[in-house]
Amino acid sequence: MTSLLIHPEEISKKWIDRLVESKIDCLGIHPVGGYRAHINLEVMLKDMKTEKFRNLLDYALEKGLRIEYEMHCGSYLMPRDLFDTHPEYFRMNEEGTRTSDMNFCVSNKGALKLVAKRARELANSLYKSTHNFYFWLDDKKDSHCHCPECSKYSASDQQMIVMNEILKEIQKDIPDAKLAYLAYFNTSLPPKKIRPDKGIFVEYAPMERDMKKPSSDVPDKEKELQADLLNTFGKTDSKVLEYWYDNSMFSNWTKPPKKYVPDFDLISKSVDYYKSAGFENISSFACYLGEDYEELYGDFGLPVLEFGE
Ligand SMILES: [Zn+2]
Repeated sequence: MTSLLIHPEEISKKWIDRLVESKIDCLGIHPVGGYRAHINLEVMLKDMKTEKFRNLLDYALEKGLRIEYEMHCGSYLMPRDLFDTHPEYFRMNEEGTRTSDMNFCVSNKGALKLVAKRARELANSLYKSTHNFYFWLDDKKDSHCHCPECSKYSASDQQMIVMNEILKEIQKDIPDAKLAYLAYFNTSLPPKKIRPDKGIFVEYAPMERDMKKPSSDVPDKEKELQADLLNTFGKTDSKVLEYWYDNSMFSNWTKPPKKYVPDFDLISKSVDYYKSAGFENISSFACYLGEDYEELYGDFGLPVLEFGE
């Protein structure tokens, strides 16, 4: 399966037609991340109830696309305003202070239970979503919990604890639900102490590589990491999330968007590489290419990406 991830406010009929013409299987909806990720997610959830949004997604479905939602939601799943009454639910930073800046304490049973409950509600609320879910944690460096209990676990193991718990809860309503383990940044390494439960798949998002080179052109160490991830999680449902069309990254996540020129040769080489490495599904961010982009620069064009079989 192939997908491109677009900010919700950038979805348009034109974008949907472009995905169909390019033989992409899935429209990935990705609210903006960063410190405001939970607020951006709330905005999307509100917009998702409007006729305008639903009509667009219905149009995408009519055209044969699938719909998925991929987002950072640590601060959404653990509401920040609980810090006053339940500071123990929140993470301890490296200085030993509980803080509500990012994520939460994964060793606190009450915290985990609440996060899983909210994830279940979130999964049920996503309009016409497939049963593949992507509830990524907050993503600043060292934003996991450093309390004495959590310190026994790496950031990757902490993420694995949370995702296993969430999936179990979502499956109460959606028995065939699957959930991504995001291998990215702090959690690039596979978990070592906690095993993924059935239904967890790996989503590999190599944000820190050199984007001017094809994805095959990475150090051997990175290739070993990819193999290690596929060993840990299995190849079934494994997914690459790339940045080939991520004009938000190329614009340094600041609007107005910069002019974007896709390197088709680089993309094609990269896709071939990932397929040969054993990844089943291939996707890329494609943000900052909405109507505001086209007003500035005109249509950027999109080739038929031979992502799939
Ligand atoms: Zn903790």
